[in-house]
Amino acid sequence: MTNTIEITKANTSKIHDVDFDNLSFGKVFSDHMFVCDFKNGEWQKPEITPYAPLTLDPSARVFHYGQAVFEGMKAFKDEANNVWLFRPEDNLERINKSAERLAIPAFPKDVFMEGLKALVKLDEAWVQPGFGNSLYIRPFVIATEPAIAASPALEYKFLIICSPAQSYYSGDVRVLIAEQFSRSANGGVGYAKAAGNYAAQFYPTSLANQEGFQQIIWTDADTHEFLEEAGTMNVFFRINDTLVTAPTSERILDGITRKSIIQIAKDSGIAVDVRPIKVSELVEASKNGSLKEVFGSGTAAVVSPISAFSYKGDLFEIPKMDNNFSSIFKEKLLNIQYNKSEDPYGWRQSI
Ligand SMILES: *Cc1c(COP(=O)(O)O)cnc(C)c1O
Repeated sequence: MTNTIEITKANTSKIHDVDFDNLSFGKVFSDHMFVCDFKNGEWQKPEITPYAPLTLDPSARVFHYGQAVFEGMKAFKDEANNVWLFRPEDNLERINKSAERLAIPAFPKDVFMEGLKALVKLDEAWVQPGFGNSLYIRPFVIATEPAIAASPALEYKFLIICSPAQSYYSGDVRVLIAEQFSRSANGGVGYAKAAGNYAAQFYPTSLANQEGFQQIIWTDADTHEFLEEAGTMNVFFRINDTLVTAPTSERILDGITRKSIIQIAKDSGIAVDVRPIKVSELVEASKNGSLKEVFGSGTAAVVSPISAFSYKGDLFEIPKMDNNFSSIFKEKLLNIQYNKSEDPYGWRQSI
């Protein structure tokens, strides 16, 4: 591999100021970042620099039109202090899919992989050892061109920043099923990790929070009859012993954790049914006792068991059970991510 990345190291490390036992998610960042500019129709020389604020013109288009996409992924340290990434090419493919929808130029895969690995290697000490600890990695692209015409920018910045994360226990997650607001629509940007998708959820989610629900499970915008996904997680339902999840579509994000769970479930002999699922079916399954589990899946928490859902003012509790699917999937995925088990899929990649 040709080393085309210019690296400027930080003079001192901030790592000794960090209390790794009391991290709040996404507030502390490692010593370096990856930066690559797009101008004159092409991506320029990639660099790794000390982590620092950006200077942008107030007219930069990202501030006005939200031309921005991002990714979320993690690095893990095994017991021999080797550092591993999980399906990193999938994140690059997805950010390019998101970018295309937002009229942002695609980023080259080889530069991404080389930059990502060089950055994580340089900040390796920030990947804390211990099962559950990880380095959360946030690649993102913003439109930097100073110009406020409502059209795609001619200049962008692709960055990767890293934040140490502790094992994340989401606690008792209660969700509200959306009846009024929508996250995405047919022909829209729901499948993209577009920055604006998240801003648009803050208000309805804060209303749900006030009612005691941590998350919203979004439904289709037309009828609010079909279950789609949560704000940053895909959702699975266990009905009797079958795992059911909605098919991905232009409205639903194609989660890497989701597809990994589907694969693991199938290979563990668990029946998987990827099909549209109605809220009425979920309510019925809850009433007749066939609904055994509901959980979200995503990079941050891997799986988040959901203990209750509310629909049309009624609260449905999901009884806790032993041998639940969500713990099986979580353990199998973590074992692959932390190099504690075989990885028959080739998902794990050393840096
Ligand atoms: C990121 C995200 C997910 C989860 O994707 P992973 O690749 O599993 O982390 C699910 N839904 C939405 C809306 C997301 O933004």
